[in-house]
Amino acid sequence: MLIFGLEQILFYVIIAVIGGGAAGFFAAIHASGPGIQVILFEKSPKLLSKVKISGGGRCNVTHRPMEISKLIRNYPRGEKFLKKAFLHFSIHDTFSWFESRGVLLKIEGDGRVFPESNTSQTIVTCLEEEAKKLGVQIQLSNGIKSIKTKLQGYTLGTDRGEITVSKIIVASGGHPNLGTYGYLNQLNHKLINPIPSLFTFNTPQEPIRELMGVSLPDVVVKLEGTKLSYRGPLLITHWGISGPAVLKLSAFGANWLYEQQYKARAIIQWNADLTEQAYVEQLNSYAQLHPNRKVHSHPLFGIPARLWEHFCSQSEINTEQLFGQLPKRLYNKLVQCLFCYPVAMQGKTTFKEEFVTAGGISLDEVYPETMESKLHSGIYFAGEVLNLDGITGGFNFQAAWTTGYLAGRSARLRSNFIE
Ligand SMILES: Cc1cc2nc3c(=O)[nH]c(=O)nc-3n(C[C@H](O)[C@H](O)[C@H](O)COP(=O)(O)OP(=O)(O)OC[C@H]3O[C@@H](n4cnc5c(N)ncnc54)[C@H](O)[C@@H]3O)c2cc1C
Repeated sequence: MLIFGLEQILFYVIIAVIGGGAAGFFAAIHASGPGIQVILFEKSPKLLSKVKISGGGRCNVTHRPMEISKLIRNYPRGEKFLKKAFLHFSIHDTFSWFESRGVLLKIEGDGRVFPESNTSQTIVTCLEEEAKKLGVQIQLSNGIKSIKTKLQGYTLGTDRGEITVSKIIVASGGHPNLGTYGYLNQLNHKLINPIPSLFTFNTPQEPIRELMGVSLPDVVVKLEGTKLSYRGPLLITHWGISGPAVLKLSAFGANWLYEQQYKARAIIQWNADLTEQAYVEQLNSYAQLHPNRKVHSHPLFGIPARLWEHFCSQSEINTEQLFGQLPKRLYNKLVQCLFCYPVAMQGKTTFKEEFVTAGGISLDEVYPETMESKLHSGIYFAGEVLNLDGITGGFNFQAAWTTGYLAGRSARLRSNFIE
């Protein structure tokens, strides 16, 4: 069944956008232009649902502006690819785009950027209004089932029948496993096995779980058996460890941790600024200055009291032990706790604030300047469907805006040029 008449096909270049998320909307908006009908297909009954729930309902739109060379370091997958893409649309373009449409953005202390309104609805409304203004036709609850190549253009099989289009922008987001790619398999693009990124570590056997709620501003967490090591805030939760340092490790170590079936050992250095030698020296000077102070009740190095007491117990230092009389063996144990505290990871938990899928369409087969497929002229990709993902902090949306912009613009420019 054809859901569009022949006249429409003659009068318009039809660009189909698959997916009504951040990347799909940005692509649809930038694909719009004279003589072009953009149709956005969304399989669910809702648009922009991840944008709506993102950033705890506030939508962490992007990150504090920075040079591209620094920005790309926040992408465990896609770093080189995005380096070329960001030359065309980067963080400052995101600021200009939203602010020129009346959405004021604010940068928080840790670099995350939110709408000043503090609600993701502002972003949702802005995108929806822009798409409406440009005449993007939206088809809700109409998923794409198949793509067939025609002599000119493509035929899409949708939940409501077939439609022939000139170009396609695929922005259908992440998939849980290779078996769920459905229609995308027909394109014969190389698919990288999708695996989760951005998760917290479960440590069910570890006594530090009893210290849930304790947080540290700047630690270093390493993954034993790898060269991976990240610094940043850490939070002890009732199921394990979380916070930016752990999330970064989960993103950069996503493949390795997947292969280990999420059984690994993390090593924590509780004060990122101090070396092992510095701990020893500062403990010595403190003991000389205050030999009669009880170790248990005098936490050092910015360690919260509950965690310090835990280190003392782990080091077999009793509650009456004085700094001046600390036996060398216990003293060394305390330094080991502070400098390289081992934590056994046994499983992971989804980070509810933001989670993404690593894997997807292989970047080798997509042009980074246009997002066009190297295998099929007129097919473009944008967003999380590609094998690229960022760490937490607004980097995933930035990738969606950039790739959506490029895919949309390229589809439009090539339409004006060719047809
Ligand atoms: C809870 C949560 C919070 C997050 N918070 C942030 C944040 O604050 N900042 C940040 O940078 N990132 C955040 N992220 C990550 C970010 O949301 C994603 O990286 C981003 O939404 C990806 O956009 P996308 O358009 O590529 O994919 P999606 O947003 O997943 O959109 C894809 C759309 O395609 C539709 N679709 C799929 N298959 C078909 C089909 N066959 N036919 C038609 N439609 C189809 C889907 O229903 C979906 O609506 C968060 C993620 C989650 C889960």
